[in-house]
Amino acid sequence: MDPTYSAEADAYREKVQAFLAEKLPSGWGGIGKLEGDELTAFVGEWRKTLYEGGYLAPGWPTEYGGGGLSALEQVILAEEFAKAGVPTGGPNDVFGIQMLGNTLLQWGSDEQKQRYLPRILSGEDRWCQGYSEPDAGSDLANLGLRAVLDGDQWVLNGQKIWTSAGHLADHIFTLARTDPDAPRHKGISFLLVDMRQPGVEVRPIKMISGDSEFNEVFYTDAVTPKDEVVGGVNNGWAVAMTLLGYERGEAAATVPIRFQAEVDRLLLLAKERDVADDPVVRQKLAWAYSKVQIMRFNGMRVLTTFLKGHHPGPDGAISKLYWSEYHKVVTELAVDILGADALVPTGRHPSSAFQADDAGAPNSSASWVTTFLTSRAGTIYAGSSQIQRNIIGEMVLGLPKEPR
Ligand SMILES: Cc1cc2nc3c(=O)[nH]c(=O)nc-3n(C[C@H](O)[C@H](O)[C@H](O)COP(=O)(O)OP(=O)(O)OC[C@H]3O[C@@H](n4cnc5c(N)ncnc54)[C@H](O)[C@@H]3O)c2cc1C
Repeated sequence: MDPTYSAEADAYREKVQAFLAEKLPSGWGGIGKLEGDELTAFVGEWRKTLYEGGYLAPGWPTEYGGGGLSALEQVILAEEFAKAGVPTGGPNDVFGIQMLGNTLLQWGSDEQKQRYLPRILSGEDRWCQGYSEPDAGSDLANLGLRAVLDGDQWVLNGQKIWTSAGHLADHIFTLARTDPDAPRHKGISFLLVDMRQPGVEVRPIKMISGDSEFNEVFYTDAVTPKDEVVGGVNNGWAVAMTLLGYERGEAAATVPIRFQAEVDRLLLLAKERDVADDPVVRQKLAWAYSKVQIMRFNGMRVLTTFLKGHHPGPDGAISKLYWSEYHKVVTELAVDILGADALVPTGRHPSSAFQADDAGAPNSSASWVTTFLTSRAGTIYAGSSQIQRNIIGEMVLGLPKEPR
């Protein structure tokens, strides 16, 4: 591992920095300085800027509207965007670009790639993820949504749950049981479904934070054309696992940057609240700082393998487990520091329930309390911590499988 960058990489970094300097408003202090309509308007405009600049899907081939960047260039771009505190896309892009798009490049037919990839980038199609069901979360292969071929189309009946940003989406990639008689993992297909039809109903779920970022999705005789299967009928498990690799393991370059900024802000909070000299608080702050350093080194290790051409796989579970467990403890420390003020959160809320608050956000009690509450979800979504440990044990370390 060589943690320094080449002269060629430095030149590319300057190019990205020049792009940011040209396109961002003067006095830009990070997305955390904005809220309400101003925030929504900026995210929409910025997405357009990224699209026009070829930066929305930096790693995709140019023939599908991607940036065609090398692995090293993608890493530098991600680092500079995170440092500048700008979003890398809109609310559904994590599903459309990071998860589905990357998976289609690997598994999709030529027709699917040509049809969907440019529409994801233009914003014409907004995707969400239909994996989990009430009886299929950790044990995903237990899923029961049925898809039956009827002439030229699949007819779907059943339910999904915890569908993030489903209320903002018009398409869902979904796992359905297409052969109920086959062994569990062998009777599943990965289907692409247009949600704009009477057979698909989206119902919001209210979270502990008061927000509604995820939903239940009900299918009642919903339909999708026969050829909207990715990777072959009854081969959906392999496609689903490819996508989970992208979901868990893509952020090695940016996660440590976000968490470092959060620890820096926590240090300021301790000073503001006059507890920075308290030996117990100091001990915990030092712990948090050291954890982020370990995250940074682990990130470099992941990046090194990425630069050598390795796609995220089961080893993505290591970073995911590490940051999500860390985040529960560090946000609890913030709430301890806030004391009774945490009971009446005030000020700006985070703009999304994902990891740390936005770059440049003020040290408000609402920022920390909302992040504290959503940090609980971090150890559940994209596979719970227990499941990540099983994956690391069985698939990364090659230990014997747990008894089933
Ligand atoms: C904020 C958020 C957003 C989400 N977004 C989406 C989305 O967009 N699309 C989607 O499809 N899903 C989404 N999910 C669902 C998520 O993938 C599931 O919640 C997760 O996989 C856990 O499944 P479950 O909730 O059914 O819990 P269960 O599987 O019922 O697990 C309950 C508990 O048992 C433990 N457990 C289960 N099996 C084992 C085992 N073999 N060994 C040890 N312990 C075990 C688990 O770790 C957990 O602690 C989201 C979840 C959250 C919290």
